[in-house]
Amino acid sequence: MTTSNQTSTKPSTSDQRYPTHQLPQLGISQCLLGEQVRYDGGHKRDRFLTDLLSRFVEWIPVCPEAEAGLGVPREAMRLVSTNGFPHLITIKSKVDHTSLITRFSQKKIRQLKKIQLDGYILKRNSPSCGFQHVRVYTPQGMPSTPGVGLFADILQKTLPLLPIEDEGRLQDLSIRENFIERIFCTHRWNQLQRKRLMRGHIVQFHTQHKYLLLAHSRSHYQQLGQLVASANQYTPHQLADIYGPIFAEALKVKATVRKQVNVLQHLLGHLKKLLCKVERDELQESIWDYHRAITPLTVPLTLISHYVRVFDIEYLSDQVYLNPHPKELMLRNHV
Ligand code: SF4
Repeated sequence: MTTSNQTSTKPSTSDQRYPTHQLPQLGISQCLLGEQVRYDGGHKRDRFLTDLLSRFVEWIPVCPEAEAGLGVPREAMRLVSTNGFPHLITIKSKVDHTSLITRFSQKKIRQLKKIQLDGYILKRNSPSCGFQHVRVYTPQGMPSTPGVGLFADILQKTLPLLPIEDEGRLQDLSIRENFIERIFCTHRWNQLQRKRLMRGHIVQFHTQHKYLLLAHSRSHYQQLGQLVASANQYTPHQLADIYGPIFAEALKVKATVRKQVNVLQHLLGHLKKLLCKVERDELQESIWDYHRAITPLTVPLTLISHYVRVFDIEYLSDQVYLNPHPKELMLRNHV
């Protein structure tokens, strides 16, 4: 099932980087959208997702328990470790739904794989949807080693490079920023695959993502640079098959303040000869203020973007790093 939020406001058509017919497609635990699919007939609406992110993505909602046939309402369940494996067992009547949810999940995730999702947001702590640190119990009802929900486990194993987070972790602004950046990067890469692929497209894609890659992982950045430099040795599809997984792995590495400062210094280097001393000092100071957590990343980036526009520096204006996701999400506004 594919739905989009009919009541939300999509980006204006003047925002050419995010046209409404090309939004990232995100799988999501259905209860997070405010739909009453939980065991008790309730929901777990998350306002950031429904009120803000909804404007920039297309949701693919899934409720494994309801869609597998358990209905709403249903008896509450939890993970019980039996012979070293987690089983999904109803709390009062002790019915084991492991096979039902596993079969449903395998089938559903095979379908999702064909859609080429750009990311997935799961409900934390759910015995079906939780993707880490989910409570697991012994058969006697004592807490055991935490585990992973059944649906989430199959999802991660089937699509290991897919950006996945839960709504709880997305409350952390640095995790949120990293995740949203990954889904938009994955979306751009998946869009490229849908075209008639040529080597030049991949080289251009790499060129535009250079500074963004550098902010995540220098080693992946260098590895991809070497790959693209020898692009002629591969067919376009061979090149994409090697480039895509390394690109996805690079984005899994978190962009730290230290790495962002390194990229900002590179960008300053491009501008140095064009700026007067006062402008250079002001930009340098804004970078140090960001480094010392006095101002958010958006401050030096706004200055740099301004000079890139003023001096019409094409190489930098094409850098995704300067505009990796919709500014309305305000992801670079925190210290
Ligand atoms: S956590 Fe998952 S299984 Fe539970 S109600 Fe939400 S979508 Fe359904």
